[in-house]
Amino acid sequence: MSQVERQQWDVVVVGAGGAGLRAAIEAREQGARTAVICKSLFGKAHTVMAEGGIAASMGNVNSGDNWQVHFRDTLRGGKFLNQWRMAELHAREAPDRVWELETWGALFDRTPDGRISQRNFGGHEYPRLAHVGDRTGLELIRTLQQKIVALQQEDFREFGDHEARLKVFQECTVTRVLKEDERVGGAFCYDRESGRFFVLEAPSVVLATGGIGKSFKVTSNSWEYTGDGHALALLAGAPLLNMEFVQFHPTGMVWPPSVKGILVTESVRGDGGVLRNSEGKRFMFDYIPDVFKEKYAQSEEEGDRWYDDPDHNRRPPELLPRDEVARAINSEVKAGRGSPHGGVFLDVSTRMPAEVIKRRLPSMYHQFKELADVDITAEAMEVGPTCHYVMGGIAVDSDTAAARRVSGLYAAGEVAGGMHGSNRLGGNSLSDLLVFGRRAGLHAARYAAGLTARPVIDEAQVDAAAAEALRPFSAEGLADGETPENPYTLHQELQQTMNDLVGIIRREAEMARALEKLAELRARARRAGVEGHRQFNPGWHLALDLRNMLLVSECVARAALERTESRGGHTREDHPAMSREWRRVNLLCQLTDPSGGLAAADPVRGQIDLVRDTTEPIRPDLLALFEKEELVKYLAEEELYE
Ligand code: FAD
Repeated sequence: MSQVERQQWDVVVVGAGGAGLRAAIEAREQGARTAVICKSLFGKAHTVMAEGGIAASMGNVNSGDNWQVHFRDTLRGGKFLNQWRMAELHAREAPDRVWELETWGALFDRTPDGRISQRNFGGHEYPRLAHVGDRTGLELIRTLQQKIVALQQEDFREFGDHEARLKVFQECTVTRVLKEDERVGGAFCYDRESGRFFVLEAPSVVLATGGIGKSFKVTSNSWEYTGDGHALALLAGAPLLNMEFVQFHPTGMVWPPSVKGILVTESVRGDGGVLRNSEGKRFMFDYIPDVFKEKYAQSEEEGDRWYDDPDHNRRPPELLPRDEVARAINSEVKAGRGSPHGGVFLDVSTRMPAEVIKRRLPSMYHQFKELADVDITAEAMEVGPTCHYVMGGIAVDSDTAAARRVSGLYAAGEVAGGMHGSNRLGGNSLSDLLVFGRRAGLHAARYAAGLTARPVIDEAQVDAAAAEALRPFSAEGLADGETPENPYTLHQELQQTMNDLVGIIRREAEMARALEKLAELRARARRAGVEGHRQFNPGWHLALDLRNMLLVSECVARAALERTESRGGHTREDHPAMSREWRRVNLLCQLTDPSGGLAAADPVRGQIDLVRDTTEPIRPDLLALFEKEELVKYLAEEELYE
């Protein structure tokens, strides 16, 4: 019989980034008693790192913008694999979410006439990103935190307790979603500092845990991105959608080695930065794909004119969607035209005076000065692709953010799949967090309020979760004299495997090798052992995160092997073309053992089954926003006919 403390809430939100905080605010405003739980300190979520801005078609800088144009850009960026209803809701609601932030105290940069300023970004037809210099995520989190504190003060006035209806559990990790039959009952958690276990009981759980980048060696992502929410959903019986689509941002730092992968914001290109190879050539003009030919400048002169006269010129190809730019950089380096440290050159110094660069891109200026001793106001940066974002994620209902198959489970933000199709446009994540964070909080609260009886979690489940979490202290299956596996070594091998074999350019034989290596790592991870005790023990935390990274990596590798085409963030050297037939296919990953057990998994076949799911036809009034000639490039024959 376990002695694990239990607390009752209506809604538990896992994650305190933009999606989690917006969900929590909404759930609390609906009257639900809401707990927020996060691995890091409150206010330190990954969202804080977001730089360039929030995409919303407010039309402040170019009045031609509206939600329909934003919708179109988003579908083009995602190569029409987006869950179209999500893309529609996102484009329609993003402006309201930005204005709402402003009423809660966000201080955006302004246009000369005092409106919220908006900047250019790749794939967006008009200047669309509301921003605060290149520190937009910080302002977003600060504002949402401030709103949470304001709600807690209201509760103090009413109940004499700040945490009566909204409480944050910081530096705590969820390791299992607990259930009663096929519905959610709560979450099993541990406090990172003390190692103490506890259970948050609730009929609704919102997963808002962000991405998976820490499974790759070169990444812009923070330490929290170990795919926990993806794995929690799988283990609870909910499927993941299109996990093969991983975004490699074209511009990460490449030098010095200790900072390789750190992001160089797209705002640098949005504000006029140009990409050149070692021969000084602006190579992106050679890489404009046919589907985008009519929309991008064909000469440097036209591209340069666009900055001053966007209505009569086409945008430069440095502002193509990220997947195109990342592949182009990769090809230049492979062809021997890279920079000394294996990247290409990104130069903004010739475009703007030094003081403007320092004002518009302050973080970039300091980042390069302090980490690489490069003055970006006077010289070019060296940049190359870095694993940045996962488009795949928990399969959700577009309107309610409810996960499939498990009642009471919701997902929002980077952990949810569908919104961005095969490739996300820059700026569309921060708006996604706000739009779908609000929706998840709303529906999670409504669901909880509508129940006549709350789910009951049996002790056996809690005991099993506790035993699973304690396993690294008594590594399994060790023969006499055998030493436990070191979680850090396993993590490094996993990262190298995913980087080398399931990275930006993929090949069948390499992915098959990756799956073999993942099977080996999975077996060794069961023997991962840690020393010491449960009080703040990072080795133990990593040992627990490994389960999640291995699960998610297997999803990425299996789905990538299955999809025999190239689209967005998934590039197959052996299948280089985009296929109209594949546009109709979503790949769902589900756990082989539907009871959520991992022990029974076949060591070679793995833990994940793939299921094909047909994409829902796009609503005719939304299709009518595109020219027929463009649709022909994406849609299958029968879809066009329909
Ligand atoms: P996060 O903000 O990462 O929050 C996840 C939360 O979940 C954290 O609180 C974490 O502690 C918690 N958590 C995770 N696992 C657990 C667990 N097991 N138990 C408890 N808590 C857990 N997007 C844009 O739109 N515009 C930009 O300008 C932009 N710039 C970016 C710059 C950088 C450097 C990077 C890396 C990304 C950028 N992005 C940008 C992408 C965007 O920042 C992210 O996609 C977004 O912030 C994800 O938000 P989220 O709320 O889903 O997750």
